[in-house]
Amino acid sequence: MKKSSASHPFFAENDCGGPPISIDDAKIIYNLPFNDLLFRAQTIHRTHFNPNAVQMSRLLSIKTGGCAEDCGYCSQSAHYPTGLKASKLMEVERVTAEARKAKDAGATRYCMGAAWRSPKDRDMDTLVAMVEGVKALGMETCMTLGMLTETQAGELAQAGLDYYNHNIDTSERFYSEIITTRSFADRLDTLETVRMAGIKVCAGGILGMGETVDDRISMLLTLASLPVPPESVPINQLIPIPGSKLADADPVDPIDFVRTIALARILMPTSHLRLSAGRTEMSDEMQALCFFAGANSIFVGDTLLTADNPGEDHDTTLFRRLGLSPMPLERAV
Ligand code: SF4
Repeated sequence: MKKSSASHPFFAENDCGGPPISIDDAKIIYNLPFNDLLFRAQTIHRTHFNPNAVQMSRLLSIKTGGCAEDCGYCSQSAHYPTGLKASKLMEVERVTAEARKAKDAGATRYCMGAAWRSPKDRDMDTLVAMVEGVKALGMETCMTLGMLTETQAGELAQAGLDYYNHNIDTSERFYSEIITTRSFADRLDTLETVRMAGIKVCAGGILGMGETVDDRISMLLTLASLPVPPESVPINQLIPIPGSKLADADPVDPIDFVRTIALARILMPTSHLRLSAGRTEMSDEMQALCFFAGANSIFVGDTLLTADNPGEDHDTTLFRRLGLSPMPLERAV
């Protein structure tokens, strides 16, 4: 990591995608006057992206609930009485039919998520067929299936999987407060496995789990410090799930959320930053600030894996009010 000083010329020159700075410098940036922070994030954003284009992904739960992991934020963990009904792995035909509908509604990337610690080898043929089926529609594909072996990552890459989502969720320091069934290092290992297989990486985190601002900054620096930063960085706002460990978590301050987006944009200038879970709890004005701070991707559709999402009508109206348009596939990398 290139270490900078407090007199760093501030990242206006930071356009190479690498993280440039120490945690102390990142804190200085995070705590800049809000207008200065957003101006600098927006300046970097528009050197790499059309500032008025937003990439649109659609998410489908291909296997819901009953997960062996104990992620404290999740409705699908078998460790918590969240009341979610578990279901088996979906049939390939149903997945491709849903993907076709998403494409017709404007989504360019189809993300398929399974509530697993890791896929079983017996499921790989089905997963490969899903990737091939969605690719055949002309969409980008993404999967989130838990930890992968090198062999499994290779099979998915061979099938044409474009992205693999594997969030690091929070800082290394705070990780064991949220998840005990795997380690932060396990997470990084899978990210490396995916990258080595030639699949693009989608990795981000969740705000509002009781972490400190320093934890959020540390999480972003971990992502920005990967040998290649993730091409896609989802930033979620916790949706407290009744019955889960984090059912009573305090909501994140909206200004802190926007600051985190801005810092992510500055640290990872060429990554797509996705406003993910929690948009139902954000005002239109807060989302507008997030887009100004550098967010340029959303999930569309009424549901995420299991949580609600603003409906397409609401997003269409918001896009019209803000003069935003969907990012075409060739820029939606
Ligand atoms: S976040 Fe994923 S791995 Fe964790 S409990 Fe939920 S489905 Fe399982």
